[in-house]
Amino acid sequence: MKIQVAVEKSGFEFEKIFTYKVPKEFEEYINLGTRVLVPFGKKNSIRIGFVLRILNKNTDFLVENLKEINSIIDENSLLDNNSFDLAVWISKYYLCTYYEAFSAILPKYIKKYDTKKNKIENFNSKIQISKIILSEYQNSIYEKILDWYFDSDIFCSLLYGITGSGKTSLFLKLAQKLISEKKNIMILVPEISLMPQILSNIKKYFGENSFACLHSGLTKKKRESEWWKIKKKLVNIVIGTRSAILAPFVPDLIIIDEEQESTYKSDKAPRFNAIEVAKFLCKKYNSKLLLSSATPSVKNFYYAKSGKIKLFELKERYGSAVLPEVFVININKNFYNNNSILSLELLNSISKSILNNKQVILLLDRRGMHTIARCSACGVNITCKNCSTNLNHHVINNQDIFVCHYCGFTKKFSKICPNCEKPEVILFGIGTQSLEKEINRIIQGAKCIRVDADTTKTKSMYEKIFKNFKDGKYNIMLGTRMVAKGLNFDNVNLVGIICADQALFGESYKACEKTFSLISQAVGRSGRRDSSGKALIQTFSFDNEIIELAAKQDYDLFFEKEIEIRKILLYPPFADICTIGFVSEKEKNAWNSCLFFFEALKFTAKSEFYDMPLKILSPTPAFYLKIANKFRFKIIIKCKINKKFRDFLRKTLINYENNNKLNNTQTLKKYKNNVHIFFDINSEGTF
Ligand SMILES: [Zn+2]
Ligand SMILES: [Zn+2]
Repeated sequence: MKIQVAVEKSGFEFEKIFTYKVPKEFEEYINLGTRVLVPFGKKNSIRIGFVLRILNKNTDFLVENLKEINSIIDENSLLDNNSFDLAVWISKYYLCTYYEAFSAILPKYIKKYDTKKNKIENFNSKIQISKIILSEYQNSIYEKILDWYFDSDIFCSLLYGITGSGKTSLFLKLAQKLISEKKNIMILVPEISLMPQILSNIKKYFGENSFACLHSGLTKKKRESEWWKIKKKLVNIVIGTRSAILAPFVPDLIIIDEEQESTYKSDKAPRFNAIEVAKFLCKKYNSKLLLSSATPSVKNFYYAKSGKIKLFELKERYGSAVLPEVFVININKNFYNNNSILSLELLNSISKSILNNKQVILLLDRRGMHTIARCSACGVNITCKNCSTNLNHHVINNQDIFVCHYCGFTKKFSKICPNCEKPEVILFGIGTQSLEKEINRIIQGAKCIRVDADTTKTKSMYEKIFKNFKDGKYNIMLGTRMVAKGLNFDNVNLVGIICADQALFGESYKACEKTFSLISQAVGRSGRRDSSGKALIQTFSFDNEIIELAAKQDYDLFFEKEIEIRKILLYPPFADICTIGFVSEKEKNAWNSCLFFFEALKFTAKSEFYDMPLKILSPTPAFYLKIANKFRFKIIIKCKINKKFRDFLRKTLINYENNNKLNNTQTLKKYKNNVHIFFDINSEGTF
């Protein structure tokens, strides 16, 4: 028996597979997708591979002296046909290696099913399941969604409901209805921080052991047993974050909550987007996809308006709750007069809320004590030794430490400038840690809890903090974007956004969309249920239109303005974006490969693909030139991503590798070494 195998770390030619012989004793265990160990390369180092093809016995294979596989990891494949097809689709669609796609679908920690280890709790069918009560208004929308699910030819829909309108109740009701008809449901949320809340809902409305749950906050052991629960068809609800979409599950309905979030797009190979994968699955299984958001992505809202996807709107808050009163505060003056990032208006409002036994949420989307350290003598910023980023100042165990948020590098804080050696390093730019300190200093006696990546290293820490806050153990919860999203606390009547400008000048074409979304999501946390709320937005860009529109929660007007800009500048939905990245420890190699690739792109575009609409932007450094000692460059292409475009990229790769007409083969060889090239299909432009 001969097989073709996708082998790990076998180079960036993404469709390359390798042929091996299978010793007789292993033959009966070999299927498509079986994991095997193979000798690889000149040194015959042992690597993992997935069986991609089993060659016909009669196939005359020219290669003599084929190597034999070393052993098998799984007796028979753990991947069924559906998962196998999905892996192949991902590698073709996202132009990543087969191995990258297969190992995303069958991660290393999934081992063979072990009845002892993967013990699955007994299902208690007698539990009391609560009924979901909808308002008359919600119910009218719910009926429409039900009609869509059962009767519409359009497989994708968008539930657009303002914050506090009860979108979650609506889609849970739909899920309950479908579960009663023995259908399979998958629900995705954008971040682990939202898991506790959705899980408590699922337990309440579907029963304690009715579901499986997959996300990176679980231990590997737990993830494995959850995976087996799905694989063994023991559950009909799967809850999770992005990667749960790759689970061995055939959903009848996929619900993607807060669909606008960038976290649905993976920034590591395979660079898949859970929404695109969901669409692939829906077409394959003839199922339906419900996207939900208070601030839809501009792209999906455009499709909803143009009828390509079905639109449902919830324009009223649930119960007697009204949208909060919002004030925009110019902090320029305050900042320079008092050197404080907290305005008097905000401080007064916080005190008032606490006096009235209400709770406060404060958003500052930067962690640490200070975000910038600069030498006042020579003006140089203190940067990471491995990255072209500023070091952040944290206080860890009462010690002043510099931390790099990109590579994790740390060193002791010092006032001595590494450039001019004068003791003039000063700190500014506040993070959540200093906000906490400031609040504790000014509002004495307030009980304050901080939520950011430093205080929530495990899932149980989130759960504990959110539960304690809900139970009223704290007056103030402050933190990064984790506190702004999708969480419902009935007693919160004030939200303060410390610095609304932060995300406005981000690297992506989606910077305005993201800012609008973050602000209106945060504002929406205020005034739930029966109490009216208030939100204060502090900004240095007082007359900024995006901030103004977010303050008014006027999504429709924001959309109209943003879509015009996208049209003029040719950004999604009017063009797709493909980023090609070049990464190497040697700056010269990465940059030259990028330049050569640019030539190859132009050459290929002119020859075979001359009629394909395409805009190739000139090579540039990535947003951060160096991360973890690797230099990064990129080429952005505005295009229509389809089969032809992928063929174009494949052909370009071949030309880049082999074409003499490009007249650079010798020089190229010198630079090509050790450069990792990747494609990011439908990228958000954040590299
Ligand atoms: Zn200096
Ligand atoms: Zn670093």
